[in-house]
Amino acid sequence: MRKYKDKETNQLSKVFCNRCGKKMKVKDGIIMEGNFSIEYNWGFFSNKDCERHIIDLCEDCYDEMVREFKVPVDIEQNVELL
Ligand SMILES: [Zn+2]
Repeated sequence: MRKYKDKETNQLSKVFCNRCGKKMKVKDGIIMEGNFSIEYNWGFFSNKDCERHIIDLCEDCYDEMVREFKVPVDIEQNVELL
């Protein structure tokens, strides 16, 4: 994840896609486009135990990544409104 906060307002100011480097649209601290954000703590049985990996992908890179999957992504519709 490459997120940067504005030092004065402490709001999110910049987010870059880790895969392609695209700068995503951010307005008033909110990402104004599709953003796939992962924060994952690797566990004891991995080779990355105690590491926390943080990734942001733009929607195009997400779509390209999942297109390579042999087993498709499970997709459910959110029924709750914000
Ligand atoms: Zn991208």
